[in-house]
Amino acid sequence: MTAWRSLADLVDGDLRLPGEPGFDEATSPENRRFAATRPAAVLSAAHAEDVARAVEWARTESVPLVARGGGHSYAGHSAGTGLVLDLRRLAGIRIDCDTGRVTVGGGTPMKALYAGLRPWDLTFPLGNSDTVGIGGLTLGGGVTTISRAHGLTCDALVSTEVVLADGRTVTASATEHPDLFWACRGGGGGNFGVNTSFTFQARPAPAGSTCLLLWSWPHAVEVLATMQEIMLTAPDRFSARIGIARSAADDGVVSVVGHHLGPAEELRELLAPVFAVAVPDRADIEDRDFWAAAQYLHHSSDGGAFAARTRCTPHPIGDTGLTALVRAVDKWPGSGNPDGAGAALFAWGGAINRVPVAATAFPHRDTKFLLSLDTSWTEQDSPQTVEANLDWLHALHAETGEFAPDASYVNFTDPDLEDWRRAYYGPNAGRLAEVKRRYDPDRFFRFPQAL
Ligand SMILES: Cc1cc2nc3c(=O)[nH]c(=O)nc-3n(C[C@H](O)[C@H](O)[C@H](O)COP(=O)(O)OP(=O)(O)OC[C@H]3O[C@@H](n4cnc5c(N)ncnc54)[C@H](O)[C@@H]3O)c2cc1C
Repeated sequence: MTAWRSLADLVDGDLRLPGEPGFDEATSPENRRFAATRPAAVLSAAHAEDVARAVEWARTESVPLVARGGGHSYAGHSAGTGLVLDLRRLAGIRIDCDTGRVTVGGGTPMKALYAGLRPWDLTFPLGNSDTVGIGGLTLGGGVTTISRAHGLTCDALVSTEVVLADGRTVTASATEHPDLFWACRGGGGGNFGVNTSFTFQARPAPAGSTCLLLWSWPHAVEVLATMQEIMLTAPDRFSARIGIARSAADDGVVSVVGHHLGPAEELRELLAPVFAVAVPDRADIEDRDFWAAAQYLHHSSDGGAFAARTRCTPHPIGDTGLTALVRAVDKWPGSGNPDGAGAALFAWGGAINRVPVAATAFPHRDTKFLLSLDTSWTEQDSPQTVEANLDWLHALHAETGEFAPDASYVNFTDPDLEDWRRAYYGPNAGRLAEVKRRYDPDRFFRFPQAL
């Protein structure tokens, strides 16, 4: 019998057991693929001390514990079967206007960050979904629409407070626990402790422009090929997501969603080669200040269940590979989820590539494109539909191995990845294992794919 009462007495936060009001809301994974994972209890920590008390208690009681920030883990890693430590109340934002340093609670969601930073017109690389948590985003790297110019979210990290497996709280920075600091910049959420706060170096929010371009399916290969060429020589100020997608409601759409930290006129010039190969059915290109651009680029989803698999490639994908990709997406088996399925090339490079591979745990410093393959379904879809979708995704992932390396982005966590240590961490895997041994020798922080 777990002594939940003793935990409740130790902390100021709220402990909830299954069936109690608020339990589902505090534990449900964003990805409904993992909805069946039911934690034994959830503690919504009131402050950092609660986190330390909960870790000590869970260790003594041998209760497995996972931290939960925004709950967006693609693989459901923040919904274990023991105690979930809900960090959403750790959401304070403190801004030092003299230095531009911003300290935020370990469970702060993107929406609160944008709202807190906007009055100061300061920013650092932030994700484009309201509810993604700063913890998961930063610890896995954090690639955003300004990352080609300003680097990753973790590249802006100056220090972080971490509750370790033994209940101690330490500051990790370039001068204190530098190896832990190194690991917190790309080593993946949940591995080394619970980060109760993060301090970032912010910069003035850059104004710019955005684009949304749409083409019909027959233009897919030529648009993908031309956009890759554009992105290889584009200034770091321009970033784009180049996508092909299918859903039950359409015959396939080709899209480019871009953010340029420069005027719309310059963006139109950058895009001229793709307009020359195929005139888009829709082309919205507009000047926007940083905050309007963030709003415009905001990601919304129909929810439900999904699976995504990635490859990080240092070179563009050739026409044979692109043709295979388009043909495969065309054969998507279908589901009831309006999000459908597809493939996207996220342009990386720029400032992301200028950091040496060993400087932080994030290893993909030579990546020019992140290839993301995804599919979605609903909880009402039949088991056969789910199986067909997963088989389709796995076959596509295997096929793309012929033209893109076995390197994956840990924040697009892939529970079906076999050699995940090498794929997520590449040459940094060995050092990450050493840091894990040093800070969590008994592997108290454990989940599928934990170091
Ligand atoms: C709609 C959507 C948009 C996204 N946009 C982007 C994007 O623009 N760029 C990008 O790079 N990624 C993006 N992602 C991926 C996202 O970065 C990861 O899913 C990330 O892990 C989510 O963090 P979270 O705190 O919301 O999730 P959680 O599921 O709460 O956490 C993810 C992992 O991190 C751990 N964790 C969370 N907080 C802490 C903490 N404070 N201390 C220790 N461990 C912690 C959890 O235990 C878990 O293992 C997006 C995902 C979604 C679903």
